[in-house]
Amino acid sequence: MDHDTAATGGVNEPKAPEQFRNYAAEARSSVREFYRLNHTHQTMAFVQAKKEEYLGLTRRRMRVWEALEYLDTLVDDSDPDIDLTQIEHAMQTAEAIRRAGQPRWFIVTGLIHDLGKILCLWGEPQWAVVGDTFPVGCAYSDAIVYREFLEDNPDRHDPRYATEYGIYAPAIGLDRVHLSWGHDEYIYHVVKDTLPIGALYALRYHSFYPWHKDGAYGHLTDAQDRENLKWVKAFNRFDLYSKGDGKPDVKALRPYYEELVDEFFPDALSW
Ligand code: FE
Ligand code: FE
Repeated sequence: MDHDTAATGGVNEPKAPEQFRNYAAEARSSVREFYRLNHTHQTMAFVQAKKEEYLGLTRRRMRVWEALEYLDTLVDDSDPDIDLTQIEHAMQTAEAIRRAGQPRWFIVTGLIHDLGKILCLWGEPQWAVVGDTFPVGCAYSDAIVYREFLEDNPDRHDPRYATEYGIYAPAIGLDRVHLSWGHDEYIYHVVKDTLPIGALYALRYHSFYPWHKDGAYGHLTDAQDRENLKWVKAFNRFDLYSKGDGKPDVKALRPYYEELVDEFFPDALSW
């Protein structure tokens, strides 16, 4: 079946796990077109240019709530499960983590995990902000969604990137591997001095499905990556399956989350 709004006619019915991320039966051709653009344009040169452009974090100072409220105006074309606004999705993910009795730092991670999508605020097209990520600079795994569109990526024909390791060394560590550019890498840099390492892994790699879901690219990981993969996997469960729960009451929950945000982010952040 396709995304649940069309299939069930309701927004609050729980979904079975196999009903999420169902691209095969995907009726929304916009998802397919999204990945065609993403896979055609996410080259090593593009990724380097975006890192150069954004990771200095010199654009503005902004508080977490300002970013959340902006995000609420976005619709994510890459996501087949779209019955929630962004702020509802942020709170629902955080609530799922809270209900599971997880630590406060992990709950706040749930709340902020998609804040990197404010890249759209600066005019980035959605294909350069959201969607699953994959390493550039080495051979593409068959585990990448819509892998066939990568045949049109100019890097595909660069001999430096054609081998299993490409420009990387065995077990080099994901910190030194360039992933396709998007909201994960951006939010990681915005908060990297403020949260524990498990949170940073969840933020930085939550869209790296070929690794955390399919086990691809293990040959590039180091001991720290393998140790922290558990947080990425744990996070993914809350991010994804929380979408089938009822809508969170944003207004009622806001005081709890304001306090939580103040605890971890007493000041505005540099974006
Ligand atoms: Fe995300
Ligand atoms: Fe999310």
